[in-house]
Amino acid sequence: MSMMGKVSIVGAGPGDPELLTIKALKRIESADVIMYDRLVNEEILLCARHDTILVYCGKKPGEHAMSQNVINETMINYALTGYHVVRLKGGDPFVFGRGGEEALELAAYNIPYEIVPGITSAIGASASAGIPLTQRGVAASFACVTGSRCHGEQSPVRWDLLAHSVDTLVIYMGVRELKFIREELMKHGKDPATPVALIEQGTNKKERTFTGTLSDIHLIAAAVNLKNPALIIIGEVVAIQEQLIAIERQASGLTHLVV
Ligand code: SAH
Repeated sequence: MSMMGKVSIVGAGPGDPELLTIKALKRIESADVIMYDRLVNEEILLCARHDTILVYCGKKPGEHAMSQNVINETMINYALTGYHVVRLKGGDPFVFGRGGEEALELAAYNIPYEIVPGITSAIGASASAGIPLTQRGVAASFACVTGSRCHGEQSPVRWDLLAHSVDTLVIYMGVRELKFIREELMKHGKDPATPVALIEQGTNKKERTFTGTLSDIHLIAAAVNLKNPALIIIGEVVAIQEQLIAIERQASGLTHLVV
């Protein structure tokens, strides 16, 4: 092949294969090469052609993750050889997905590319857990924040401002820093009674959801051995989940069921 190929940077959604967009599915079905990340549900790869080259870019047990440089090089080489490369990422490529960095790399080599959005885990997981991110009279704003930059030289998240300026906080990559994050928010005046939800493996078959408050959520996370990938949702909207569950139970005549 001598013609220039192209790269589609595609969001695979949060896990449930049915949450793929039609555009993402079309790209996966026609790709020559699929370079996929750890968070991509491998069931989705069954939609690819039999002769599609599959390249895993995540970390295998006991091995190092493919470095971003090697990922970029591999993607560029395949495209320069004339292949249609699908760079498949969990959730949305532009939400904590390094989609922007990879697009810049492709642009520098004049390689045609497109971004195909996906349902980000905040949207997917909140829907399957029954927690609306906004609700009239309860929450008029939400923010998606990374929990992985709590320390070190990278620009720190302004927990002091977030404690007051946003109604619902959705924290990605925050499991390890949960204790620190809750302490920061409370230190800056967030009510310790604020409801918090933890959603592990949102939209996947193994999804687990736990709720508590800022004052005890770190203990709950430890008690249930919360694992990545998981999202932390902080705000009054979390309480709506309990109302929904109660109403559903009432509707199905299970009001006296103790769980
Ligand atoms: N681009 C992705 C985010 C990648 S960062 C997106 O748009 O969703 C990785 C973090 O995303 C994880 O640490 C976790 O906080 C969150 N995440 C991804 N998939 C998830 C899922 N199915 N359930 C809960 N959290 C998830």
